Formats: sequence, structure tokens, C-alpha cells
Amino acid sequence: MHASFFRLDDRPIIEEALRYLPGGVIATMGHNVPIPPNSILTRGEGAYLYNAEGDKFLDVILGSASLILGHCPPAVVEAVRSQMDQGTTFAAPSAPAIELAGMLVEACPCADKVRFTNAGTESVLLALRLVRVHTGREKILKFEGAYHGFADELLFHTNYGSPADWPDSGPPVADTPGIPKAMADLVVVAPYNHIDRTREIIEAHHSELAAIFVEPVMRGIASTPGFLEAVAELAAQYHIPLVFDEVITGFRLAYGGAQEYYGITPDLAVYGKGLGAGYCIGAVGGSEEIMSHLDPASPDGQRIYALGSFHGNPLSAAAAVANLRVLQEPGTCERLNDYGNRLRDGLAGLFEKYGLTAQMSGAGSLVEFFFMDEPVTDYRSSRRSNQRIKDLLGGQLPRHGVYGGGGRFTSSIYHGEDELTLMLDAVDASLRTLQEAGDLS
Ligand code: PMP
Repeated sequence: MHASFFRLDDRPIIEEALRYLPGGVIATMGHNVPIPPNSILTRGEGAYLYNAEGDKFLDVILGSASLILGHCPPAVVEAVRSQMDQGTTFAAPSAPAIELAGMLVEACPCADKVRFTNAGTESVLLALRLVRVHTGREKILKFEGAYHGFADELLFHTNYGSPADWPDSGPPVADTPGIPKAMADLVVVAPYNHIDRTREIIEAHHSELAAIFVEPVMRGIASTPGFLEAVAELAAQYHIPLVFDEVITGFRLAYGGAQEYYGITPDLAVYGKGLGAGYCIGAVGGSEEIMSHLDPASPDGQRIYALGSFHGNPLSAAAAVANLRVLQEPGTCERLNDYGNRLRDGLAGLFEKYGLTAQMSGAGSLVEFFFMDEPVTDYRSSRRSNQRIKDLLGGQLPRHGVYGGGGRFTSSIYHGEDELTLMLDAVDASLRTLQEAGDLS
């Protein structure tokens, strides 16, 4: 049994972290919860992470859902090693980037052309500029609870914000200080999975809307059947580009992402972490018409400024090509989703065993649940779940060899029978401890 992610000898390194990094951490969210710098992990391999003492943890976070192939997949390591000797960045098209572009166009239903970035947030920024020049409009519709990266433009009413702070009408509220007030006038927020309200909002704003951004699975909340189709129909009716944020769903739900999984083709899609198997890369893919604004030969006024020193670098591209070669093998995404569905079923059984009423959520290998009676279809309903029990569960899991919080469990191709058993045993043992301590009531 593991007491925590780090050993006592790690204390000097934690003190160093506190000395040199604000709060000792590498990420800051909107909630006012200090995150102790306690995840000093030294190695990852396949489905597992190790601390300096050699304790092994099943990883169910996987680089915030980046590592569809798990840690250090041999094919990716090999591709990166051989590219490293050939040069890592040229700031010019390279053979791996061109090969990757071809694979993306083949994989992603909406993509006639692609442009590379370094990460999901950058892909979103590029997509925003593309849709604004394409439509000549400026406002963006996003959904309440959706996260599209940390840029000023869309950090409004995300899953890091609190609905108690949000007005029922008028401009939305930014989820962090530091966002210029004027930004709020460029964002319109609609409730996820509420098509009637979404229609009203689109009808009221369509002449100003440059795009509708949607996460096909919003954090852990799945889109209800028909919702994405109805949004796509409204977008088409009012000639508003529909942008799928496939930063997490891309190449995971299906090789062709949520577009293939749900059978809906947006105008544009943004990609990030799932593409790079742990290396920094993002991409925007879209219709010829929209992507033509990135062609240097496009007319003045229609051509947008968009470049990055590392965009299309051959190192990240080589990693992504190797990643996609594995993911495109028939049955890979189906196996990932099958694991997720079995985990969801197993968790549901355990929650029942401990008398916890839970709503199972997510889609395929993105597994989420909420402790509550009513179905969870949007961010506000998810906030009514019993977060205390989820947090307690998240606190127990590391003691039973699982690296992850109390929800949104992801998996990699290395998560198989042994890992499913380990995970369910860990949840069982965690809930038993909490029950014995009287914490489940
Ligand atoms: N969109 C979605 C749906 C995401 O989950 C994330 C990252 N959590 C982003 C965008 C931003 O990606 P990145 O962290 O690579 O900038």
C-alpha cells in the first residue's frame, strides 16, 4: 500500500519547488484550493507511474488525457529518437509535418487542410482568428462549463468558474482576474444539452456570431443524443462556423474523433494533446474555404497573420505520426472505449454496493460520474453532485496504487484486464475505508 506519491526524501525537492515556482506548482486553476506540490513522480511506463522509491501507481490521468498510448510508447520513443539526430525544428515545412498533415486530412472528416500549433490553447486562438476573418463577425458562442484553453477569449463560465457568480443575463463573467472587460462583450454562453435555450440564444445573436465552439463531450458530460446534430443544423442555417474542440476527443473516441463517433462534420476542429502522445503539438483542421485564409497567396484582407517558431516542428510531428499509426490500427479506439465502458459498469456496481446513488457519465474511454439522484446533462446540474464524497475517494485512491483524482478517469492502450481489476479493487478498498470511517453518509 502506498502512503502518498512522494517519499520523505523528496522533501528537499518540494522545498525547492516552493522556493522557485509560485506555490510550488506548475498549474493554477480558478478555484481557491491550494494544491500541495506532492506529485513528485520520476518515471512513467505504459499505464504506470513510479515515484523515486519505485512505488508503482496506475495512471488514470495520463497527462491530462494526453497519453492515449500511455507513457513512453516504444513506437513514439523510437520515432522521436531518430528525428532528434536529424534536427528538431526548422521553422519550415518538414517531411514528418507533411506526412502528418496528410494523415490528419485523411482521419478528420472536416479537414481539407490543416495548420499546426504547439498546444490546444494555441489551436483555439488560431481558430478564433480564422472564423472572425471568415465571417466578418466577432462574437463567439460557447457552452457553460466548457473549457477551451486558458486564453482570454474563452475563459468565461468554464468548469473552473462558479455558477453562483454568473448573471442570468447580460455579458458573461471571466473566470480569472486579468481578462480585459471588453472581452466579455465578445462571448455568448449557452447551457450545454439545452437545445431550446441554445436556439433562442443563436436566434438572438446569429448576425454577430463568428462561431459556435463546442466540446463534443464537455469535460465529463456527454452530449445527449440529438444535441450536437441540432447545434450543427442551427449553425448551418445561420451560416455560423461550427468548431469542434477535439483536444481530448480527437483520435480517442474514434480515430476520426468525435466527428466520426457522432457522425457530425463541423466546419473546423481544434486538436492538441491527444495528437502528440506526450509531445507539444496542436492542429487546426477545416474546410478548404476557411483554411484558405492561412494561404499566403490569399488576397489582402482575407489572409491572417499566424505563425509560431515551433509550428510544424519535425520532432513533435514525428511523435504524432507514430502515435496516429498505432491509433489507426483497426480496433484500437474500440478497445479503449470498451475498457471505459467496462470501468463505468464496474464503478456503477461498486457505488451501488456502498449505497451511493451515482449518475454515470462521459463517453467511451472518458469515464465520469456524479453522486446525485438526477441525471447530469449540463454544468449546473453537475455542480449539485456530492463533491465531498468524490474528493474523499480521490484522496483514498493513491493509497491503493492509483494516480488520479476522484473522477474523469481516462485510459490508454496499456489499460487491460489487470488494470481494470486493479482500478476496481482500489475503488472498492477506498470506499470500504470511507464507509468504515462513517464518511459515506
Ligand atoms: N480544449 C480542451 C477541450 C481541453 O481539454 C484543453 C486542455 N485541458 C484545451 C483546450 C487546452 O489545451 P492545452 O492545455 O494543450 O493548451
